[in-house]
Amino acid sequence: MMHKAVRVMVKPKAEKKFKRGYPLLSKEDIEQVSVLKEEGQLIELTTKTGAYLGTGYYGKQNKGIGWILTQNRDEKINQAFFERKIGVALTARQELYASSETTAFRVFNAEGDGIGGLTIDYYDGYYVVSWYSEGVYQYHAEVYEALQNLTDYKGIYQKKRFNTGGKYVDEDDFVVGERGEFPLLVLENGVRFAVYLNDGAMVGVFLDQREVRKTIRDKYSEGKSVLNLFSYTGAFSVYAALGGAIHTTSVDLANRSLAKTIEQFSVNDVDYEAQDIIVEDVFKYFKYAKRKDKQFDVVVLDPPSFARSKKFTFSAAKDYSNLLQEAIDITAEKGTIVASTNSAAFDMNKFKSFVHQAFQAQNTKYHIEQEFSLPVDFKVSSTFKEGNYLKVLFIKKGV
Ligand code: SAH
Repeated sequence: MMHKAVRVMVKPKAEKKFKRGYPLLSKEDIEQVSVLKEEGQLIELTTKTGAYLGTGYYGKQNKGIGWILTQNRDEKINQAFFERKIGVALTARQELYASSETTAFRVFNAEGDGIGGLTIDYYDGYYVVSWYSEGVYQYHAEVYEALQNLTDYKGIYQKKRFNTGGKYVDEDDFVVGERGEFPLLVLENGVRFAVYLNDGAMVGVFLDQREVRKTIRDKYSEGKSVLNLFSYTGAFSVYAALGGAIHTTSVDLANRSLAKTIEQFSVNDVDYEAQDIIVEDVFKYFKYAKRKDKQFDVVVLDPPSFARSKKFTFSAAKDYSNLLQEAIDITAEKGTIVASTNSAAFDMNKFKSFVHQAFQAQNTKYHIEQEFSLPVDFKVSSTFKEGNYLKVLFIKKGV
């Protein structure tokens, strides 16, 4: 879908950021929102006096109404454009492709690789393309053509992560090539993950935590008791067990997390029966753990940005500090809290201020030993730093 671009003027106060290459378009930036009707329609952004600023597309996401794709007036948004962007991104991941220890990683990271609203992940020969707006999805034919031309894919799957008026439909996930057999076993730092590319938005592992998981396994697990809160499929617990943890406890509210965690331990030949896997609200678990005077050497905290359970609502931006206070209580002296968030609502400095608040309120000394943000394959645009949503701190309790 490559219609003629519609001209859109930006408000004077927004000119500067677009000149500097800021890629995200917001309602508030433009004069006449009403000209934008058709998702996917190309936009030529200009100043009020008609000077060219960039070309992009219209597509509503939870944040913004579209993305700028180029600041070069002569660059056409066509098949060759998508092929170029994806080609450059694939080349930048050569080292990961060459690794025999890691067979799952991100190959295209939205605006970081030049096309906001589109991500592509690689799982041992299979590609999963995620579409974050109906607008960007209008370009699916070009993107699939590019992927087929540029890679030795076994199969391609897709996730429509915008409101399609219904649920994810399994048959609709598959695009082309051969359908895999699931679970597909992929590797990350030599650890196996069972992933399902045909089962809803989440495949079973969050690829952006690769380095954090490795650090936990290699430096924080030997001889330790490890508590993994908001554990999902237990990826951190599996790494901890493989790193020599004497015991792991995984806590997640979702019923599916039990079977998924058993599966992840099992594919790595870890006896899951020697581990605790608890389906429960983390906030209830805190009460239980305190009543039982439990103390852990390592506590991993990786909550969603927002969550609602029967009794609690949690927003990382508002409640992270309180969550940390609870975690501090059940962390052993000289133990480590691995505090993680993927909330884009605040930056690393703000996150550190939450940590400071929590330890101060608990009258406890602490020391930040390591920090992580997104790994290289989750490429971040230099003009859109807020795209670096991941923030992880390894915090030592005590002095
Ligand atoms: N740490 C995980 C990812 C966490 S995703 C990993 O590395 O793979 C967030 C998880 O939090 C989801 O699995 C969800 O079920 C769980 N969750 C949300 N609210 C919760 C709560 N109140 N108590 C326990 N788990 C919760």
